[in-house]
Amino acid sequence: MRTDVDVAVIGGGVTGVSVLYHLAKLGMPNCLLIERSELTAGSTWHAAGVIHTVNSDPNIAAMQAYTLALYDEIEELSGVSCGMHRPGGIYLASTPERLDYLRLERAKARYMGMEADFISMDEVKRLNPLINTDEYLGALFEPADGHVDPSGVTNAYAQSAIHHGAEIVRNNPVHDLVQRPDGSWDVHTEKGTVHAEAVINAGGLWAREVGRMVGVEHPLLPMEHQYVITEELADIADHGTEIAVTIDYEGNAYTRQEGNALLIGTYEEAGRPWSADTTPLDFGMRLLTPDLDRFVDRIEVAHQRMPALATAGIARVVNGPFTFAPDGNPLIGPVPGIPNYWVACAVMAGLCQAGGVGLCLAQWLIDGEPEMDVYAMDVGRFGGFASKDYTYLKSQENYRRRFMITYPNEELPAARPWRTTPSYDALDAQGAVWGASFGLEHALWFAPEGVEPVETPTFRRSNAFEHVAEEVRAVRERVGLLEIANFAKYEVSGPGAEAFLDGIVANHLPKRGRLALTPILTPAGRLAADLTVGRLDDDRFLLFGSGSMPAITMRLFLQRRFELGLSEDEVAIRDRSEDLLGWSISGPDSREVLGRLTDADVSNHGLRFRDLRELEVGGVPTIAARLSFTGELGYELYCTAEHHEALRAGIVAAGDDLDLRMIGGRAFLSMRFDKGFGVWNLEFRPDFTPGEAGMSPFVKVDKIADFIGKDAARAELERGPERRLVTLVLDADTAFAGDPEGGDVADAIHDEPVFHGGECVGFVTSGGYAHHSRASVALAYVSAHLADDEAAHGGFEVEVLGRMVSARLAPEPLYDPAGERMRG
Ligand SMILES: Cc1cc2nc3c(=O)[nH]c(=O)nc-3n(C[C@H](O)[C@H](O)[C@H](O)COP(=O)(O)OP(=O)(O)OC[C@H]3O[C@@H](n4cnc5c(N)ncnc54)[C@H](O)[C@@H]3O)c2cc1C
Repeated sequence: MRTDVDVAVIGGGVTGVSVLYHLAKLGMPNCLLIERSELTAGSTWHAAGVIHTVNSDPNIAAMQAYTLALYDEIEELSGVSCGMHRPGGIYLASTPERLDYLRLERAKARYMGMEADFISMDEVKRLNPLINTDEYLGALFEPADGHVDPSGVTNAYAQSAIHHGAEIVRNNPVHDLVQRPDGSWDVHTEKGTVHAEAVINAGGLWAREVGRMVGVEHPLLPMEHQYVITEELADIADHGTEIAVTIDYEGNAYTRQEGNALLIGTYEEAGRPWSADTTPLDFGMRLLTPDLDRFVDRIEVAHQRMPALATAGIARVVNGPFTFAPDGNPLIGPVPGIPNYWVACAVMAGLCQAGGVGLCLAQWLIDGEPEMDVYAMDVGRFGGFASKDYTYLKSQENYRRRFMITYPNEELPAARPWRTTPSYDALDAQGAVWGASFGLEHALWFAPEGVEPVETPTFRRSNAFEHVAEEVRAVRERVGLLEIANFAKYEVSGPGAEAFLDGIVANHLPKRGRLALTPILTPAGRLAADLTVGRLDDDRFLLFGSGSMPAITMRLFLQRRFELGLSEDEVAIRDRSEDLLGWSISGPDSREVLGRLTDADVSNHGLRFRDLRELEVGGVPTIAARLSFTGELGYELYCTAEHHEALRAGIVAAGDDLDLRMIGGRAFLSMRFDKGFGVWNLEFRPDFTPGEAGMSPFVKVDKIADFIGKDAARAELERGPERRLVTLVLDADTAFAGDPEGGDVADAIHDEPVFHGGECVGFVTSGGYAHHSRASVALAYVSAHLADDEAAHGGFEVEVLGRMVSARLAPEPLYDPAGERMRG
């Protein structure tokens, strides 16, 4: 066994071996995988082996497509069979809503270059003769889908990793992880101690126990999962070719052929956690006791939808545990706050995803970043709020909803409310309809008196439409008040703060009392964060960013400080997201409201656009930032939690005679469409560069400090971007007028393909209705030559729920293009 390695991978399930393979393949062969027992001895050995590409998150879908394509490569390299079967996959819809869902998936497949497309019911019957096609409204077919042998796949990865120079040691539990002062690790195993520069926890069912060795509690929960194998079926035996893998969402079942029988798996409503606290160390290659009672209602539905099953008995039941994160996606990447400790766990569909997980992780470790945005899998998308109880509730919700639609405007109910601000009750009493992000409740919109504060989940315009329109009108004509507690805030201070931040952010740091917008770039010059930085004092900075990013941005700051060898005395970094809450007032009357609450000069000279001041507002000490995301005159007022409610009450009282209105996040997001403003995680994310996102003005390649990604940003400036972010105005009302299906009008949501001259030239990152401009708007990345070309302005089409909706390019913001209102 090697005793000094670059990386020690803990766990030889399908995830661990894929990580090892990719590390070795991408140029880091001095890696050791340590397996407690035999390879596959966790969840992997009993998996059903179904592989499919469709996933609501496009980057996870891409990662799944990569994984499926990889099986040929590792089979050839290792000489070990992956037991591949590729009869293709059918995705069935038996409700109009599911049909819409499949339309969105098909649309996405177009720009991703995947083959998924609708097939007729005759074709369904040809590919899977068991299906009673009368039950369904539509079906999508993906030729790449199928099933594999989990053990063959694991061994093929393992042999391929060894081929590239890595080592695997079996029957060797890791007992402890001890970090050295330089950040490297002593990995204590039964067969001795290994020194590793970095460790990766791929412990699957035991990932929690490995995490506890370094003092972290990873948010994952093992769930029981069952599938049955029927007796042999004549319809299968007689079919001649293998029947397609099939997902029947409303029937809540996945099926594949197993010999001449059928394997049927389901995500039961009454899904059951397994070993909620600790996975027993002596749990080996064992199955759990079958519980067919939980399966019975599914079997009845299956008989209706596949009538041939009615005569076949059940030959075998498999009940095994596998792990779920609260949102069902893997947890990968460096764990915030613990240098050189990485995870690749909670991979709930390892045969579909482990290849992509291994690739992303290896790129991240070797190159400093994965080549695509992995936010949906990043362990840093959770923070301290994702406690054991939270994970217990959310993971179960996710399990039972696995085959249910989650609509873009839907907020799932488990573990709600989890985190609230001191103003929660006051806003609730005013009809707030709540959403949650990073565990924190925030108002989406306010139901006026007499209206039930509930939003109907839909892919189309919802019942919130007219109420959001009123909130937008209040801001454009008078003044609106929005809670902004859910923004992330960081404070960086100390004698080394200026130089430290200057080496991170791409823009110049602002002068004292001023604010600047700035991206942080990845080493390859892509967007890593989008922040507003304010300087409160020479050596004290406050930064604001997306509420989804506190742990990820803190990880970046802390890692950088660690790498530079700076002490806390030189650079103090605090995540103030939880203790600094606040309110945003915006609209033409917002200055009047603020002026009534403070003695300070809030005129356009006293508090200029992008000024930052410590102000007493209504007796509350605040940090006031004159910023605007709505495109109106506006102020963000931050205060500590104990003052938050008093500040709200003061603002409401001061704005009463001006007809101040509470607004929620939906109105806020609608107003950005008037202005063509992008947001983090949609328009701005590591998939895009500043040149593509229109952020080049905030990237100062001529500044002295060598900020992260500077060389790459300079190269992009010279080369010019290949695609660009644009605003499209869609003719959605016409496209959906007289809709034969009688549905409401739909705006683009995200990930719809954009066509020009019949060719797919880009995709939507977010869409919605700009109430003030009365326009259905989509922000989209399109080929750069189409972003400027006058002739192109009328020629776009966006595929929305299966309709081709004509669109024109908006060359400038739809509202106040000169920005006079927010600066005035
Ligand atoms: C019934 C069932 C059906 C499934 N069907 C499918 C399917 O059709 N398609 C699909 O894609 N997925 C399926 N899955 C999910 C799939 O099994 C998992 O996603 C996958 O196995 C996870 O692999 P892993 O490597 O992350 O974890 P695991 O397989 O649990 O591997 C973790 C490994 O780490 C080792 N380990 C842990 N702690 C230590 C330590 N301290 N020292 C050394 N070694 C350690 C363990 O021994 C184990 O081998 C199914 C799961 C179940 C339960």
